[in-house]
Amino acid sequence: MDFWKLHAFLKEFRQLQYDRFGRTSEDKEDILLVLAKVAEEVGELSEQVLLAHGRQRPSKGSTSNEALWNEIADVIISVAMMAEVLDLSLDEIIQNKIKSIKNKRDMTT
Ligand SMILES: [Mg+2]
Repeated sequence: MDFWKLHAFLKEFRQLQYDRFGRTSEDKEDILLVLAKVAEEVGELSEQVLLAHGRQRPSKGSTSNEALWNEIADVIISVAMMAEVLDLSLDEIIQNKIKSIKNKRDMTT
């Protein structure tokens, strides 16, 4: 998936969420809600990792590769939503970060 498709998805999904919860893009708490969602998704991913390594109570159930991949996707999408809410270009900030890492580590590719 390219960044443009992700951006289009996030824009539509964001509008659906606004409609669902009766909010607007002007709501000041928006970024805090998005951050809470990122934290929630990271927690769900952590739970899957713990389940995969037998570090959760049996009552928490079991995991699968698909469940783990779904939670990784949820984390990526929720973080991408944060960039969307802040009106940042995900493509640009990731390109800049990759460039910074390459410069720091003297990478040539
Ligand atoms: Mg999730």
